[in-house]
Amino acid sequence: MGVVTAIANQKGGVGKTTTAVNLAAALALQAKRTLLIDLDSQGSASSGVGVTADSSRGPTIYEVLVNGVAAAEGLRHTDLSELDILPANRDLAGAEVELVNIEDREIQLKRQLEALRASYQFIIIDCPPSLGMLTLNALCAADSVLVPLQTEFYALEGLTGLLDTVERIRAAYNEDLLLEGILLTMFDGRLSLSQQVAREVKTHFGDKVFRTVVPRNVRISESPSHGVPVLLYDPASRGAQAYRDVANELIERVGKRYSSGGRNKERGEVREETTTR
Ligand code: ADP
Ligand code: MG
Repeated sequence: MGVVTAIANQKGGVGKTTTAVNLAAALALQAKRTLLIDLDSQGSASSGVGVTADSSRGPTIYEVLVNGVAAAEGLRHTDLSELDILPANRDLAGAEVELVNIEDREIQLKRQLEALRASYQFIIIDCPPSLGMLTLNALCAADSVLVPLQTEFYALEGLTGLLDTVERIRAAYNEDLLLEGILLTMFDGRLSLSQQVAREVKTHFGDKVFRTVVPRNVRISESPSHGVPVLLYDPASRGAQAYRDVANELIERVGKRYSSGGRNKERGEVREETTTR
């Protein structure tokens, strides 16, 4: 059964989509059957893997969430044989409001994914920059949440809000949701500020922070305009290497969890960490 990981942070521009696209690509390149779900009406994850979510080519995540179209009908292949995507386009902007009138609105995605879990080893969800109905759907459907954090001065601002939301979702809808980890992104080793923020985050969150730190890398920012993940655009770049390392860490974390059955213990630890903040 596939592991569902939501990439979430209500702040925009912290590296959610970049992480979703490149982590999904790195997993697929490791021969893991992977599904990327674009849950942002900007559609950047879709275009990032070269898929135009033109509605005439088939249903998108919008029809899946709002009209109950089977998720399998919205799947598109990408250039990577092991990577599929459920794309999004601007229609999805309406879903935040339209979902409100639907019964069991917060678990539409969860229900839809039940049928797909068996076909994938990893399902990665790119969340929008808000804590609205779409992110709620992602967190209700997910086994874990990965939080990209830009290493800049205000990085920690809003993190408490996100972690509180995770707690509330755990209490109300999805008791098994766990914090997969915090991923430091756009790290610039030349800046003492970057280093200071990285140190502070590690002090607060300990081994919940991914060992891999994603550097600020121009190849990462160039690749979306070519419609390919950086792993294909420039496989030798530092950015591509970083996301390969992130994928290995995720595979390692998930493997440990399922081999040791340490899920509950881990949940407890997260709870402690989040309440001390
Ligand atoms: P979000 O999805 O959280 O809004 P994005 O992933 O779209 O954030 O990233 C915001 C911008 O920063 C994009 O233009 C992206 O190309 C760029 N970017 C993200 N990560 C890096 C990185 N490690 N190095 C350089 N540019 C990056
Ligand atoms: Mg994004």
